Amino acid sequence: MASPSTTSPPPDVLEKLVSLCKRRGFIFQSSEIYGGTGSVWDYGPLGVELKKNIKDRWWNALVRARDDIEGLDAAILMHPRVWEASGHVAGFTDPLVDCRNCKKRFRADDPKIKGTPGTPDGQCPACGMKGTLSQPRLFNLMFKTFMGPVEDSAAVVYLRPETAQGIYVNFLNVQQSTRQRVPFGIAQIGKAFRNEITPGNFIFRTREFEQMEMQFFVDPAPPDQQKTPYRTDMEWFEYWKEQRMQWHRDLGLSESRLMFHQHTPEELAHYARAAFDIQFDFGGTLGFQEIEGVHHRGDFDLGRHQEFSGKKLEYFDQPANRRYVPLVIETSVGADRTTLAVLVNGYREEQVEGEQEGRTVLGLHPGLAPIKVGVFPLVKKDGMPEFAEKLAADLRAKFPVFYDESGAIGRRYRRQDEVGTPFCVTVDGETIKDSTVTVRDRDTLKQERIAADRVGEWVARRI
Ligand code: ATP
Repeated sequence: MASPSTTSPPPDVLEKLVSLCKRRGFIFQSSEIYGGTGSVWDYGPLGVELKKNIKDRWWNALVRARDDIEGLDAAILMHPRVWEASGHVAGFTDPLVDCRNCKKRFRADDPKIKGTPGTPDGQCPACGMKGTLSQPRLFNLMFKTFMGPVEDSAAVVYLRPETAQGIYVNFLNVQQSTRQRVPFGIAQIGKAFRNEITPGNFIFRTREFEQMEMQFFVDPAPPDQQKTPYRTDMEWFEYWKEQRMQWHRDLGLSESRLMFHQHTPEELAHYARAAFDIQFDFGGTLGFQEIEGVHHRGDFDLGRHQEFSGKKLEYFDQPANRRYVPLVIETSVGADRTTLAVLVNGYREEQVEGEQEGRTVLGLHPGLAPIKVGVFPLVKKDGMPEFAEKLAADLRAKFPVFYDESGAIGRRYRRQDEVGTPFCVTVDGETIKDSTVTVRDRDTLKQERIAADRVGEWVARRI
């Protein structure tokens, strides 16, 4: 695993990615024609496919491929008491300072602030004035709104700042309806909202984002003879740490850009028994940053919901005739932040031998690429477009395909390289004679001649 001190930082490609993503329809600024909304982004035709492929891989790995994790899709709006129980009403805050001169706001711990806010030497990082920064005050990051027609304090609800609480409050519903036995997990993918004071870095930190969270419930005092491969809570914690790191490797993220960060005693939540972040090196000044948290949350969440709701959230182990509140191992990853990691990891500019013009490539894992195959007729005549269109239609039944007959063939390849399409198929004069086509690999640039009716199987094997 990487050590940030021994590897030179990869280049900062964020600015180039923002422009590529807009130009090619991955990601657009929200409400752009009105000047944009602060740190909210819309996924275009290719971006929605990429993010969906990432979410599908997560869902398949955690829910579909296992018999000990169940899926859930809980609502965004929840009973306001949920957020009192979870600690978010009292504690989900960041310290905020305002500049009286330029009216800008900052997190009090922003490294760009010089001096001490609230004193004459505190200097505003935006307008440069001294003594204009307010004392830090706590700012709750939850978005508030009202349920029903009356806008008073009794009707306040929150947009959820994390998806996990929907899992805790449904713990017994899921367990009893599926008859799962501890240890087991509940997983869900959904939107979360945080009124971040300093969002930014494209889709790295936004105010509306998607999380993929899984809560795994384990026995606090498992009997010695328990037969599951892992027994104690700490064994399960280690298991999930490794599983989740492997999932990121399997997305194609480079080993040298991934590492664990163990929470220091200051970072560790008071109830947490252990916590590691999986970090990815975004390059440039951003460097290594959290993309996923793997946390041992003890019995804090179920315990608090028991206390605040007055309803028991105990698991009944029938064979052993024991009742207990399980411990929770949580894995929590951002779908948008992972999408950014995949884009950053894949972006490269390179020279091609024998060609003047360089190329930009998104070296996406073929399974994640929004388009799997580009299909081109070499020229727009002699039956080539008809053959190619028919081939594209046949392939489209299996994967997303892009048919392109405009411009020089080299340019068509470049356009697909830039959006990460792993394979391109070209129909030429020979195709018309013997029904063979050339298939080109995005990364090696190697071309092979194969029978047109074998293309589907050839591509399927590689994705
Ligand atoms: P950070 O320290 O970066 O604010 P966090 O520790 O608050 O993150 P968690 O509450 O553990 O984050 O959320 C789990 C995951 O959700 C993060 O690892 C990240 O991938 C994602 N996430 C959290 N906040 C945001 C955000 N504002 N925008 C995009 N993704 C986010």
